[in-house]
Amino acid sequence: MKRRGVVILGSTGSIGTQALDVISRHRDEYQVVALAAGRNADLLEEQRRAFDVPAEFARTCVDDAGVLAAFAAMPEADVVLNAVVGFAGLPATLAALEHGKRLALANKESLIAGGPVVAKARAAGGGEIVPVDSEHSAVWQCLRAGRASEVHKIVLTASGGPFRGRTLADLASVGVEDALAHPTWTMGAKITIDSSTLMNKGLEVIEAHELFGVGFDRIEVVVHPQSVVHGMVEFSDGATIAQLSVPDMRLPIGLALGAPERLAEAYGPVEWTKVGTLTFEPPDLDTFRCLRLAYDAGRAGGTAPAVLSGANEVAVDAFLARRLAWTAIADVVEETLQGGSGNADDIADVLEADRVARERAVAVVERRATA
Ligand code: MG
Repeated sequence: MKRRGVVILGSTGSIGTQALDVISRHRDEYQVVALAAGRNADLLEEQRRAFDVPAEFARTCVDDAGVLAAFAAMPEADVVLNAVVGFAGLPATLAALEHGKRLALANKESLIAGGPVVAKARAAGGGEIVPVDSEHSAVWQCLRAGRASEVHKIVLTASGGPFRGRTLADLASVGVEDALAHPTWTMGAKITIDSSTLMNKGLEVIEAHELFGVGFDRIEVVVHPQSVVHGMVEFSDGATIAQLSVPDMRLPIGLALGAPERLAEAYGPVEWTKVGTLTFEPPDLDTFRCLRLAYDAGRAGGTAPAVLSGANEVAVDAFLARRLAWTAIADVVEETLQGGSGNADDIADVLEADRVARERAVAVVERRATA
């Protein structure tokens, strides 16, 4: 049997290394044909040797949209895993879909910022998106239980992050280390901060809307601190189908690579006698304003999600650089959104919206900087 060619963009990050771990157990099924990384050249070289990737197809080029898009369009590629961090992943997402590839999507920002443009690329090129994000992988699995016309509601679970149950006053002086201490998942820095503000969940609401075509009024977020239920779909007859597993990203990564087939080995099976109590509560939208802002931007449509996501990236960078208070992340996003948004007809609109949003957000950060 011919092995399926896999391109991994963001190979030295958390998702990339876990994907290579899965592939290392399935070398008879998958062949890594290209690797792109950020700055970790030593690990990239180690990966390149371990998976026999030619030198010209292993590059530290995560900021080079041209190289990422060229890798995503390679004739040898059957599956493109896009695990680039942030908006920089958009050109590769478009290239993969335009060339009819399966896109294993771990870069949610590209879908959120470029939703309408990504939808066009998907329709024109015949490419397919299989989500790697654990919640969307869960929903994707639950959707197999009924017809699209029977879907009543999508439910995304949120762990609540390290600050669950705290008030805005409690959180006025939290530091970078506090926000990076995620209770249930080990992830990269940007997404971990996004989890602490619930912006990650807000971005996932927009992601779910784009992936599954369900309106914002029918996408609900519930806080589920144990992170065992990853997503649910409620059908027209009231039946809710849920996907449960102990947090381990190798399960959704393996499914995105091989779907509709599942991996033969288990990642994170639930031990029912040890799992204990599973709880669900509503999110606190006053303390975690980023979630509300994301719903607002999603409903506004056009380039508003691009503005939201771009402003958030600037604010999170400033927080990680200890120049902005955690509570000011939402302020930066809100003020930037107040600057307005427009139509997202093509990639130029999205790039321009992102550029303007970042410029505005930088100005807001300057005004609010703590140092
Ligand atoms: Mg997620």
